[in-house]
Amino acid sequence: MKRKQKPKLAVFKFASCDGCQLSLLDCEDELLLLADAVRIANFAEASRAVLRGPYDITLVEGSITTAHDAERIREIRARSRFLMTIGACATAGGVQALRNYRDVKEFTRIVYARPDYIDTLATSTPIADHVKVDFELRGCPIDKRQLLEVLAALLAGRGPKVASHSVCVQCKLRGNVCVMVAHGTPCLGPVTHAGCGALCPTYHRGCYGCFGPAETTNTKGIEGALLAAGASHEDIARAYATFNAAAPPFRKAQEEQLVQIRLKEGPRG
Ligand code: SF4
Ligand code: SF4
Repeated sequence: MKRKQKPKLAVFKFASCDGCQLSLLDCEDELLLLADAVRIANFAEASRAVLRGPYDITLVEGSITTAHDAERIREIRARSRFLMTIGACATAGGVQALRNYRDVKEFTRIVYARPDYIDTLATSTPIADHVKVDFELRGCPIDKRQLLEVLAALLAGRGPKVASHSVCVQCKLRGNVCVMVAHGTPCLGPVTHAGCGALCPTYHRGCYGCFGPAETTNTKGIEGALLAAGASHEDIARAYATFNAAAPPFRKAQEEQLVQIRLKEGPRG
């Protein structure tokens, strides 16, 4: 009897720090089981094997920042049955998307002795802006439990169960005292996607928004609470301008704060 082939798993990297791929290697206890369940077809961090597609499951880390990236992701998509993006870079453009609202040539002039050698796009964009994405896993870096849940679901042929609620729900499930209510510490938990297990509030810090916007966010709604907790409009604008700065709800929230700052400053003479 012909033995059934294991599904082919491929992992590809674009502009990123590799932290999300390392979350996969960090699975330690589960890694051998996973390696037994799939055939690693491409994963530069873990294996020298390079098999051509088609791939059954493709994980993509990183954002699109060069014309070559844009071409390569289309080619990878054409060879992938199920394509999942992992991390803030791949799902929202990452911290490198801060360039989207400035002149990237000015940055390269400041940083590089020979900026004329730098071949880059003016923007850093998520993978979904370029090709169809079947599933997006948020976080900077991603949470390995969420990653394993999606992979296990795919291998079992069922739908993945990844919560889309806010960090506040995870925070309450851990029995934390709310740092914003009890201590007046500004916290982005109410508008941030669950995934980290409310790590920062558990250690009495406000949430930094690493997992990007929750499925439904009300950034206007928490503005008053953040101001009451002592954050200025500048602080709030900065809080949204991190790993998920270009995710539309966070970008919009940042712009609203910039309008408030300009109104406060009054007309320029
Ligand atoms: S999302 Fe964060 S951890 Fe993942 S590759 Fe980008 S910068 Fe690194
Ligand atoms: S500490 Fe932050 S995440 Fe936790 S309940 Fe309060 S606002 Fe939500």
